[in-house]
Amino acid sequence: MGKIIAIANQKGGVGKTTTAVNLAASMAATKRRVLLIDLDPQGNATMGSGVDKYEVHATAYELLVEEKPLPEVVVKDTAGGYHLIAGNSDVTAAEVRLLDVFARELRLRNALKNYRDQYDFIFIDCPPSLNMLTVNAMAAADSVLVPMQCEYYALEGLTALVDTINKLAAVINADLKIEGILRTMYDPRNRLANDVSEQLKRHFGEKVYRAVIPRNVRLAEAPSFGTPVMYYDKSSTGAKAYLALAGEILRRADKKQQKTTPAV
Ligand code: ADP
Ligand code: MG
Repeated sequence: MGKIIAIANQKGGVGKTTTAVNLAASMAATKRRVLLIDLDPQGNATMGSGVDKYEVHATAYELLVEEKPLPEVVVKDTAGGYHLIAGNSDVTAAEVRLLDVFARELRLRNALKNYRDQYDFIFIDCPPSLNMLTVNAMAAADSVLVPMQCEYYALEGLTALVDTINKLAAVINADLKIEGILRTMYDPRNRLANDVSEQLKRHFGEKVYRAVIPRNVRLAEAPSFGTPVMYYDKSSTGAKAYLALAGEILRRADKKQQKTTPAV
């Protein structure tokens, strides 16, 4: 059964969408079956997957509000080799419409229920706020991956997010876990970044990925070509970093499996 990972941080511009697109592409490149769900009305993950958000036949709106089955809304042909539920400004309407419906927090969870075994990984790119869409993502997810920049006040924001995740888990999704914390746009020459990074490791230990995403201009350029960075410049440090992250996530999942499978 596919693992569902929400990529969330209430702060904008920390690398959520960049991570969603490039992690999805990296996992797909390792022959995993991947679905990416763009829950941000800005539709950046959609455009970054080479899908025109203005031309797409359906979005997360149809999935969440009209309750259309996933096969009717999914886009199978993306530049990253994964499937996509697109996002665009219609998703803003979804956020409003959801406020009036029954069991509004569980729409995404229910929409994925019958289809998650068709995928190895389902990634959800969340909007930069804790609105009903993000709550839907957290209710549907097994875990939350938090991208963050190692800058001043980053830890405060992270503590607030972890607090929110715990509160949500208590109410709508008892099994929700922190998947991992990802350092993004990292510049090892920056002393503050190194200090914050050390603090992070002290606070969150093993949850902090060893893989670090460096600041890399190729990562910022790739979306304007409608492609994940690995198909734009495969030798870039950004492409290698996201492949390393995918490898780390797979190894962690294997380890867990070994721990939970009884020896025969
Ligand atoms: P979010 O989804 O959290 O708002 P984005 O992934 O859209 O953040 O990133 C914000 C901006 O920073 C984008 O213009 C993106 O291209 C750029 N960016 C993200 N990660 C990197 C990186 N590692 N190196 C350079 N630029 C990056
Ligand atoms: Mg984004």
